[in-house]
Amino acid sequence: METGQSVFKILVCDDDQADRKLVRAYLQQINDREIVLLEAGKRDEIQGALDRGRIDLVFMDMRMPEKSGMAWLEDIVTKGLAPVVMLTGFGSEEVAVQAIQQGAIGYLPKNGLSKEKLVTTIDDATERWRGLSISRANQEQLERLVNIDSLTGLLNRRAILNRLDEHITDSRRYEDNLGILMLDIDHFKRINDKYGHIIGDDVLENVGLLLQRKIRDTDAAGRYGGEEFLITLPRTDLPSALILAERIGKNIKATKMKDLTGIVFSITVSQGLALYKPGDDIQSLISRADKLLYQAKQNGRDRIETPELITSGI
Ligand code: GH3
Ligand code: MG
Ligand code: MG
Repeated sequence: METGQSVFKILVCDDDQADRKLVRAYLQQINDREIVLLEAGKRDEIQGALDRGRIDLVFMDMRMPEKSGMAWLEDIVTKGLAPVVMLTGFGSEEVAVQAIQQGAIGYLPKNGLSKEKLVTTIDDATERWRGLSISRANQEQLERLVNIDSLTGLLNRRAILNRLDEHITDSRRYEDNLGILMLDIDHFKRINDKYGHIIGDDVLENVGLLLQRKIRDTDAAGRYGGEEFLITLPRTDLPSALILAERIGKNIKATKMKDLTGIVFSITVSQGLALYKPGDDIQSLISRADKLLYQAKQNGRDRIETPELITSGI
């Protein structure tokens, strides 16, 4: 059994001292591996043991007075803390099957315990848990690949549009404010032409990092197109959104970029700031932001256009 760690920590949760003693007796017979055994009977003891750190396997009694084994199972599975094997009393096979459906790795009838059964259970549980951890990690990686723009680390076009869709649904339901910023780098073609595409990519990466740093946790920033970004600002009114847009514009302008020979240059951005209006959908809201962005370009770039205020120089 390889766990990657030198000792294997097992937590036995059972309110019945005699049952715990039984499990302990069998576990102590296993001497080809180093097992650290923790025991807990009361609710606080179990919680304490789970909070205290890594556990490699939990044996959980089905029937417990303060909080049921199934409730513990749900907790541990939801938090992804450890693999859980249920300890079942006589005649509770049906419930055991239910426990498996809810994420238990296995179950052991208490009346049929043996050293061999415990060894097999520990090995199976470890194996299955490793499989689950790998598929969880794969899942996370997959979600990243699907939603994140690899160059800037921001949400990609699809993901930011999904986010915007959710924000619009919320604004419609709760009559909340919602602002969006459409931001485009000024004369980016010239940057590419003058310094090359690699530096162009650096610039995009820097803008991505800066946007990520400037926005709140509830906001979202995405790469909408080549050098065009979309930022969603839920529960944000015009003055607050404008302050943020101005701060972003100023910060980008003040960021020193370097070409391959170390020559320092800077860039500016133009922004269109639109606010959600009742009846808006993604298309209508984005289209207003787009038009305002276009106006910002027309009016000389390095500026923000908003619907209410005609112009706002940065
Ligand atoms: P404007 O101020 O009107 O926005 O001018 P602009 O030059 O920024 O706009 P335009 O749309 O003419 O050019 C955008 C350029 O962005 C052209 C394209 O080559 C470049 N671009 C798009 N995606 C990438 C990318 O991923 N990396 C690099 N280096 N350049 C990109
Ligand atoms: Mg541009
Ligand atoms: Mg563009």
